[in-house]
Amino acid sequence: MFRRWLDRYNRFMYGRYGADPLFYTMLVAAFVLNVFNRLFFRSIFVLAAADVIFILALLRYFSKNIYRRREENRKFCAAFAAIKREWQLFRDRIRDRKVCRYRKCKYCRAILRLPTDKGKHSVNCPACHKRFDVHIRF
Ligand SMILES: [Zn+2]
Repeated sequence: MFRRWLDRYNRFMYGRYGADPLFYTMLVAAFVLNVFNRLFFRSIFVLAAADVIFILALLRYFSKNIYRRREENRKFCAAFAAIKREWQLFRDRIRDRKVCRYRKCKYCRAILRLPTDKGKHSVNCPACHKRFDVHIRF
């Protein structure tokens, strides 16, 4: 019985996109919006937004345009990785605030972790090997 249902599902899903990180994120977002709406907002618009996200997630899951879905997921993962990088830098800046300062290289935009020595310093970037001045005030 279960085997037959599984075969039917597999036949139906043949050539369809299925789940990816964007799909799971959309499901979680729809669920969280729904719960927050029930607890705090009680708005029909927030509920509609949650439903739209849920329906879009299902449409992506069953879509046969695999190339476009994969491209959407690639863009989502790149944006998520950029946000995660910024968050980790923010967290590290707070954690290391007493021992070092973070500065961006003005040539290659690499992040440099410098000791907290107040004043003007000449710094050699380890990524592009160019020398430039930084001013650490506090
Ligand atoms: Zn550099």
